[in-house]
Amino acid sequence: MLEYQAAKDLLMNKTILVTGAGDGIGRAAAVAFAQHGATVILLGKTVKKLEAVYDVIEQAGYPKPAIVPLDLQGATEQHYIDMAETIEQQFGHLDGLLHNASILGVLGPFQHIAMDSVQKVMQVNVIAEIMLTKALLPVMKKAPLASLVFTSSSVGRQGKAFWGEYAISKFATEGMMQTLAHEYEGSNVRVNSINPGATRTGMRANAYPAENPQTLKAAEDIMAAYLYLMGHDSVAVNGQQINAQ
Ligand code: NAP
Repeated sequence: MLEYQAAKDLLMNKTILVTGAGDGIGRAAAVAFAQHGATVILLGKTVKKLEAVYDVIEQAGYPKPAIVPLDLQGATEQHYIDMAETIEQQFGHLDGLLHNASILGVLGPFQHIAMDSVQKVMQVNVIAEIMLTKALLPVMKKAPLASLVFTSSSVGRQGKAFWGEYAISKFATEGMMQTLAHEYEGSNVRVNSINPGATRTGMRANAYPAENPQTLKAAEDIMAAYLYLMGHDSVAVNGQQINAQ
């Protein structure tokens, strides 16, 4: 997948929303989508980070992005419904949605899982994705072709000791992807998941503090698979678990 070469204008005239667009992989994806012609809606928690991404995109001369500050931990279903209405009014339809924002929670033995921690992880990594997808699917149905991409992990495909709450949330994400892919089969909306693989970000450093980050790919180096899933080359791909590396 790293070898895929996206056409320069692959995402021209497309509107794509990226969650967690202020940092890490989401930031790199937002910039890569804009670089390939998309108008990107930058959703995230920390406004300063979103503004920095906005500036990078604007200064590069890519299509002007939009910023949606939203804390996925606290947002209610009404927040997502209101946001979807605004997107529909402003853009008419949505061509792509990358669910990227996630939190790691606490790694450790299953017996040590604290209920407040697992609830936070499930809220951001799963419940927020359900609410956001529910609100935005009608707007995506209005697009000629739309791509819905969930972000998984190696531990969302094969459980691993001590990855408890995070791994469970990523299995739920994969389940959501498969359910939706089946439900929307044959429609204009395709649904897939992506596993970025080990990537040099804040989350990875938290999970592996002793690791030398320079041994890892940067987020910018793994964008081929993200571009592939958002562009027309993947139009026949539905219900698949894609690896970015
Ligand atoms: P990251 O550097 O920690 O970035 C996560 C992003 O999500 C940040 O922009 C963060 O915003 C946002 N976010 C977190 N909580 C939020 C909330 N409550 N509301 C809104 N936005 C929130 O993580 P990453 O490594 O880029 O990971 C991106 C995705 O790839 C995640 O789904 C992760 O599980 C997955 N993944 C990563 C790796 C890896 O090696 N990096 C491997 C496998 C899978 P703030 O900065 O404002 O908090």
